Amino acid sequence: MSMDKLIEVSNRYGSDADYVLAGGGNTSWKTDEFMYVKGSGTELATIDSDGFVKVDLKKLDKIWSKTYSGDTETREEEVLADLMASRFPEENEKRPSVETLLHGMLPYTYVVHTHPALINGITCSNKAAELVRELFGNRALWVSITNPGYILAKVVKDRIDEHLKSGGEFPVMIFLQNHGVFVSANTINEIDSIYAHMFKVINDKVTIQPDRERQGVDPSEEEKAVRIIRDVLGKDMAVLGFRNKDIMTYSRSAEAFTPLSLSFTPDHIVYYGFKPVYSRSLESLGEDLKSYRESHEETPRLAVVKNIGAFAINTSENKAAKSALLFEDNVKIAVYTQSFGGYSFMPQDKIDFIRNWEVEKYRASKS
Ligand SMILES: [Zn+2]
Repeated sequence: MSMDKLIEVSNRYGSDADYVLAGGGNTSWKTDEFMYVKGSGTELATIDSDGFVKVDLKKLDKIWSKTYSGDTETREEEVLADLMASRFPEENEKRPSVETLLHGMLPYTYVVHTHPALINGITCSNKAAELVRELFGNRALWVSITNPGYILAKVVKDRIDEHLKSGGEFPVMIFLQNHGVFVSANTINEIDSIYAHMFKVINDKVTIQPDRERQGVDPSEEEKAVRIIRDVLGKDMAVLGFRNKDIMTYSRSAEAFTPLSLSFTPDHIVYYGFKPVYSRSLESLGEDLKSYRESHEETPRLAVVKNIGAFAINTSENKAAKSALLFEDNVKIAVYTQSFGGYSFMPQDKIDFIRNWEVEKYRASKS
């Protein structure tokens, strides 16, 4: 049964931290008439058949022949309504992934979309476009950064059309700038071999590997930091101290910290905010947290203190653990980009879009 295969491949990639963290990534399986796609608010690691939403591909396809409002917000609402209307009637409690349109347009049985740090080492690098062409040729497509939702799907669709017109075959790898990769194929074996190939080819180009070992922060310094954080942000805050070699290297000075000072992908914004706090010492941490909160009108969720380590701050231990995971992922990406011409953050307007959009849709979809 293909649903069993979809669940198997989703759980397998979803529980491998090299591919997917927390609620990131999504998968689908389609026939000529329908598609099962991951629902919003589910996680690939644990998803079962209930987590997928069955959509009617003919109804979904009609979205492409419609004209929507020129106003971004109205347009996204209109598209969402059509997306919801493309569900089969028995699915009316569920909401399909925001990336459903993208899954729908790929003419392959299975699609496995992930956000691997290794691959984002390329998609968040300065040389991304040329590297994708050089390493993967015609089987891959590079797509520059676009706001998520309908507009991303539309841009990918146009890029695929161009690619086909210029004689390319239908791309099985679609690299999205500052985001991740879509892999599609007619069998799970092919999906696995495309991923294995990508990982090998990219890994062979990596000259500096990130540190993968998490260490704790010195207990007495952690205690001090926790007290300061709770004084400023609230006594119920869950705080998780952690570090590794790379975090310590980047923490040495404000200048050394620059590659971690803004967002690489939407996942990072969703799980710990668009910008971590950097403090020169525990003495200045309290003031730094306050000024972050005042200037950005949000609670900081990640702070790095020079030569001490990182602190994930959140409303529950579970959420703090996810913030920590995503920050480590961010650090890995920064290290990988050193092999690919240096890092490239999301542009500020794209960051702002996610920060605003997230409140209503994105965060809800990934809670
Ligand atoms: Zn994604």
